[in-house]
Amino acid sequence: MKKLLITAAALVAFLAGIFWFVNHRTTTKQPEADTATKLRVVTTNSILEDMVRNVGKDRIHLYSIVQRGTDPHEYEPRPTDISEATEADVLFHNGLNLETGGNGWFKKLVETSHKAFDEDVFAASTGVKAQHLTTNVNEEDPHAWLDLQNGIQYVKTITKVLKQKDPDNASFYQKNADAYTAKLQKLHETATQQFLDIPEEKRLLVTSEGAFKYFSAAYHVTPAYIWEINTEAQGTPAQMKAVLAKIAASDVRALFVESSVSPKSMNKVAKETGLSIYSKIFTDSLAQKGTTGDTYYSMMKWNLDKIHAGLAQD
Ligand SMILES: [Zn+2]
Repeated sequence: MKKLLITAAALVAFLAGIFWFVNHRTTTKQPEADTATKLRVVTTNSILEDMVRNVGKDRIHLYSIVQRGTDPHEYEPRPTDISEATEADVLFHNGLNLETGGNGWFKKLVETSHKAFDEDVFAASTGVKAQHLTTNVNEEDPHAWLDLQNGIQYVKTITKVLKQKDPDNASFYQKNADAYTAKLQKLHETATQQFLDIPEEKRLLVTSEGAFKYFSAAYHVTPAYIWEINTEAQGTPAQMKAVLAKIAASDVRALFVESSVSPKSMNKVAKETGLSIYSKIFTDSLAQKGTTGDTYYSMMKWNLDKIHAGLAQD
């Protein structure tokens, strides 16, 4: 009997503990007071996140899916990604075969969260003139944002959507977009002249992924890469051979590696050519918050300055 009483007492204490835990959890996990009234926006990656933040500032609730420093081409959404997407008023993705290429993770997420393209899901790249992959001419190259003029078009599309979805704040969004666009435009104008002081045979931009088609066309460098787009098969012997031949035919002095890919293959290129990796650069992700390159503007400025300094070497 005594044993039974002790067991019962333990059970009561245990249940009380659970009750306290559940209660405590719900009281400490109160949502921000404003999430109920603010427009809820989800972006697929940190570059879009920063553009949307520059337009919406503190008048939107913003959640971004792919963590900084990781690849947005291939991704597996986490439970929080699904719940944020489900509750969102607007979702922005890059489009141009970025999140809908590869394992097609974003298409699946749109389905799971019961959203619809062009109703509540929008491609930030709408209105940009697409370039295509050379290894598969039917597929678009997603890296349009690496040309600041395209970035400005992204901001235009983002602003249009935010104004439509939240007309009460339309003039606030437009004012922010105008100021932000002017800043990007100024950087673009400098960039169009930046590389012209380097001899053409040195202006070969060697990266792991061929992310610099749009950048190269805008800023007068020639892109070279090990593989054209991030997939499972990267850095095959044939790909390595092709990039080594391009390097040998040029007078290039530096290699670059993207912050969101493994440096393994580029280290091999460095070993084979005797060239060194001059710097990391940012292509598909911003830098971690609080470090240089943690905004779209700062990432582009970093890329332009590092690439210029690396290619200009004697
Ligand atoms: Zn990429």
